[in-house]
Amino acid sequence: MKLVEKITARKDVHAGWRREIHAHPELAYQEHRTADLVAAKLESFGIPIVRGLGKTGVVGTIKAGNSDRSIGLRADMDALPLAEMNEFAHRSQHQGVMHACGHDGHTAMLLAAAEHLAAHRDFDGIVHFIFQPAEEGEAGAKAMMDDGLFEDFPMEAVYGLHNWPGLEVGKMAMRTGAAMAAMDVFEVKIHGQGGHAALPHLTIDPIVVGAQLVGAWQTVVSRNVKAIDPAVLTVTQFHAGDAWNVVPETVVLRGTVRCFSQSVRAGIEKRMREIAEGLCAAYGCRLEWMYEHRFPPTVNSAAETQVAARAAQAVVGMDDVNTEVEPVTGSEDFGYMLEAKPGCYAFIGNGPGTGGCLLHSPTFDFNDDIIPIGASYWVRLVEQVLAR
Ligand SMILES: [Zn+2]
Ligand SMILES: [Zn+2]
Repeated sequence: MKLVEKITARKDVHAGWRREIHAHPELAYQEHRTADLVAAKLESFGIPIVRGLGKTGVVGTIKAGNSDRSIGLRADMDALPLAEMNEFAHRSQHQGVMHACGHDGHTAMLLAAAEHLAAHRDFDGIVHFIFQPAEEGEAGAKAMMDDGLFEDFPMEAVYGLHNWPGLEVGKMAMRTGAAMAAMDVFEVKIHGQGGHAALPHLTIDPIVVGAQLVGAWQTVVSRNVKAIDPAVLTVTQFHAGDAWNVVPETVVLRGTVRCFSQSVRAGIEKRMREIAEGLCAAYGCRLEWMYEHRFPPTVNSAAETQVAARAAQAVVGMDDVNTEVEPVTGSEDFGYMLEAKPGCYAFIGNGPGTGGCLLHSPTFDFNDDIIPIGASYWVRLVEQVLAR
């Protein structure tokens, strides 16, 4: 491994920042303390900042040389509504809120890189450090874009980095094309005709229709989506009825769809709705339909993925970068940024993922040993893309 030595020399300081953030986690759009910390650090490095994009977002910008080429590096700052079960000193001090996805580490890695790049400026161009709110399901990336991120801070490409439990420390991974899935949610209400459970012929039983709908939807992925296109359709909630002897009026089904392309996404939504409408028509029920697109797929562009791979290889070595990692069925709001700009979302090994050290687990903790690796990756990426 070839880490940036001056970053490694400050790894205890950087780990301190990470633990400070870990101890004070904040939920989506409430990252005030975290944004204050980020802003104060950037200013202490001599980096001018702009605050308030996407409510709590922070952007720092540095320039070196004469080139007006520019790139963005993005970290996320938010935590999850989860009660931390770790007992160590830097455990969450905010009841029911926890950095269980390692965004504390993402923030610390990007701060460490910003500190180094501001001090050495061994590149020619402009770097925007993007600290975004609300990655966890609340589309903070989009909120910053809606507030003019790419207009106020023009950039050719944008890069993101997520820690990955299960990937060894010292390894990195990425892929060209769809790296993470699109995420949609749906809520379907089937309205029948309630009545006495002993006199079902006088009712229209929505439970029977709802049950058939769950079954019929299983054909969408298996019969309507091309076999080589990965997709998931999961019904996660089925709510109906309150009594032993009453046929309820209404069934509510909720769930999520994951897939990796906009065309598959559109096809699944259309087919789900056709089946639901057809079944409801057949049984005389009324359908209320809600299908919401949340995050788009996270799609890496080819050239920028090569650039990211080269930077990763310069840090962890040729053999420890997997440039054809499997796509992940989780999703990321960085997909919004990659719809607007070319770029690459890469993964950095957080260690074995044993002992409950998994993303979104109450016993997760970001691995401080990888801060110098991730920060070195950011520095090499900037130095390579914006080479003098
Ligand atoms: Zn997460
Ligand atoms: Zn995350």
